[in-house]
Amino acid sequence: MSNSKSKTKVTRRGFLRAQAAFAAAAAAAPMPALAVATHEKSAAGVDYYDKLGVQTFINAAGTYTDLSSACMPESVQEAVARAAKKWVHIRELQQKGGAYIANRLKAEGCCITAGAASAITMAAAACIQAANNCKPIDIPRLIGTPKYPKNEIITQTPYGYDEGMVLCGAKIVVVNTLEEYKRAFNENTVMTNHENAAETVKIPVEDWLAVAKEHGVPCHLDAAADMPPISNLWTLAEKWDLVCFSGGKGIRGPQSAGLLLGKKKYTDLANAMLPPVEGVARGMKVAKEQLVGMVAAVDWILAQTDESLFKESNDRLAVMASILKDVPSVKTRVIVPAVANHYPQLVVEFDPKVIGATPREIRARLSSGNPAIEINPHTGATKASQGVDPMPNALVVTAMLLFPGQDKIVGEQIRKTLKNPKSVGSYDPAAVPIRL
Ligand SMILES: *Cc1c(COP(=O)(O)O)cnc(C)c1O
Repeated sequence: MSNSKSKTKVTRRGFLRAQAAFAAAAAAAPMPALAVATHEKSAAGVDYYDKLGVQTFINAAGTYTDLSSACMPESVQEAVARAAKKWVHIRELQQKGGAYIANRLKAEGCCITAGAASAITMAAAACIQAANNCKPIDIPRLIGTPKYPKNEIITQTPYGYDEGMVLCGAKIVVVNTLEEYKRAFNENTVMTNHENAAETVKIPVEDWLAVAKEHGVPCHLDAAADMPPISNLWTLAEKWDLVCFSGGKGIRGPQSAGLLLGKKKYTDLANAMLPPVEGVARGMKVAKEQLVGMVAAVDWILAQTDESLFKESNDRLAVMASILKDVPSVKTRVIVPAVANHYPQLVVEFDPKVIGATPREIRARLSSGNPAIEINPHTGATKASQGVDPMPNALVVTAMLLFPGQDKIVGEQIRKTLKNPKSVGSYDPAAVPIRL
């Protein structure tokens, strides 16, 4: 909120009081030994979650942004820790990291971005620059003016990530039918954007691509959460001019990293726009730790197979299902959503009257219990979403992100909560349901 009246006014006295309170708290807190040199070795580091009083939990929900997505695999964490100890020229690392990933994913080009949402901005900026033959610094101020009039981006489904294109000076043109789509192209069209997991798709993808090709307009696909299957990392960029993936979702890299893959002409423009270049991407810096983490995560995912990932999830879900099997009224089954979040999920169906609580209450209690556990937001859903049926009487649990042994902990905590809901955490029926 920008309304200054809504903010607490900082008075000098208040400030001094706050300072005194802070000093008192600092004096009372156990002080870590002062490091004598910046590079002094520390065995395990400080647990800042603990120090800051930040709640941690077991993520049996999935790669949701609000839940800080995935934890990076050990090999990726180690590569990041190592990268943090040396300086590099950031543009050299950006170029070489991108080239390495392009080569490994058989893509023509790659730009490592600050997440998939950032990749959408970079795609729009690259297409706008290519169409107008302008400079990075001209975006957005001169875009859509008589000097650089080409700024229209056609989309099928308006969604939150459109804003990332708008900030490049793009005008978003939403179409609903193939006829509308055909009519929407004109000399100012610079790109089309399509969400792979879109639920209200009315225009067949083949037509979408063919019509754009006739007009010579590049097509970007948002496939942020659409891995696995691992092969999506190379097959989609064969069809689409540009594809983005989130680095911190299934690929298990840093949450603030992502990939823009596809035609080198555009990924080169995107790479050339990143900091220290001033312009629309200046705030989308990818730090050396994220760049190396993204590269290491691609190496990690390419060492996996869909079968090994699915087997790991299925084995863990089977552990949970067996722990839950004799809970009254409970029936479990495994589902795999078709497009996005395409990995096994355990559906724990039960009769709320027998259990004495709704799925929403069970989810809230698990979230506020000890250990705190987050389960999938599709829990208790009354509407279908991303190809998954409504589940008004079911919990939805995922296992792909768990550390070894957490399957048993999650299974036992869910069992305890279903057997005696009031014994775990708390529940406020008036509270807004946890949304992600
Ligand atoms: C998660 C997601 C994004 C954003 O990804 P980030 O890496 O968090 O920026 C964009 N589009 C879709 C469809 C997503 O699911």
